[in-house]
Amino acid sequence: MSSENLELTIGWLYPKLMSTYGDRGNVITIERRALWRGYNARVIAIDQKATAADIKSVDIIVGGGAQDRQQEIVMRDLQGAKADAMGEKIENGTPGVFTCGSPQLLGKYYEPALGQRIQGLGILDLVSVHPGENTKRCIGNLVVEVTAPRLEEELQAMTGTKPYLVGFENHGGRTQLGKVEALGRVVYGLGNNGEDGTEGAFYQNAIATYSHGPLLPKNPFVADWLIQTALRLKYQEAITLSALDDNLALQARGAMLKRLKVTLPTTTAQVEKKLEWQG
Ligand code: GLN
Repeated sequence: MSSENLELTIGWLYPKLMSTYGDRGNVITIERRALWRGYNARVIAIDQKATAADIKSVDIIVGGGAQDRQQEIVMRDLQGAKADAMGEKIENGTPGVFTCGSPQLLGKYYEPALGQRIQGLGILDLVSVHPGENTKRCIGNLVVEVTAPRLEEELQAMTGTKPYLVGFENHGGRTQLGKVEALGRVVYGLGNNGEDGTEGAFYQNAIATYSHGPLLPKNPFVADWLIQTALRLKYQEAITLSALDDNLALQARGAMLKRLKVTLPTTTAQVEKKLEWQG
């Protein structure tokens, strides 16, 4: 199938309420990487004005972080047919990336620092609790080894190397996973709760993470995985993505890893080094 016939609709959850710490960059990254390859990409807002049919029409879902108050407003709106449509999309394998406040809402509940428990959509088997305003927030750079088996395997098949994510976290809430599998293992930083070494969650094709930064510009292979997975689901055939020049992103990753004094296993480091200079 020729690339100009391929269409991708990116659904962006509540752009005005949920885009803390540059998470809008995730939307831009997916859109640009699709456009650069000649696909027809467009972004629609899934907000108060959107309908359940709008949600059903999207091929990739992106949800950013939010402050506690905004999360409450979103949850009051994301009810009934809209909540059902979100649940169906994720259950049916629509790929998505959900950061910080978004996974808290996809989980069973979120208890903010002040006020009532906010019921989540219950799509992800996890709960999040903010221990109170006097508790230190989890803030800082984050490096994560992807351990969710299928995602790890698919990312490795795309890049030829073991996948590591580089990001930045800023959250008060602590997340405990139920039966859902973790996205990865914290190599540097705090992750889900600063205690059990897990970070994020992976369910069907939904990536949940505490990593802002935003996540995708520094980890462009994840954006490509989302695009490839969305195209495969939509067109029922495997579509190989053409290579893009990720030199700058690789340099940014390299600079951050160096600053954090994180040494990745040799093969990964070698490949990243090689790519960095090859362009
Ligand atoms: N309000 C949530 C928390 O503090 C999420 C914050 C965010 O999305 N950055 O845990």
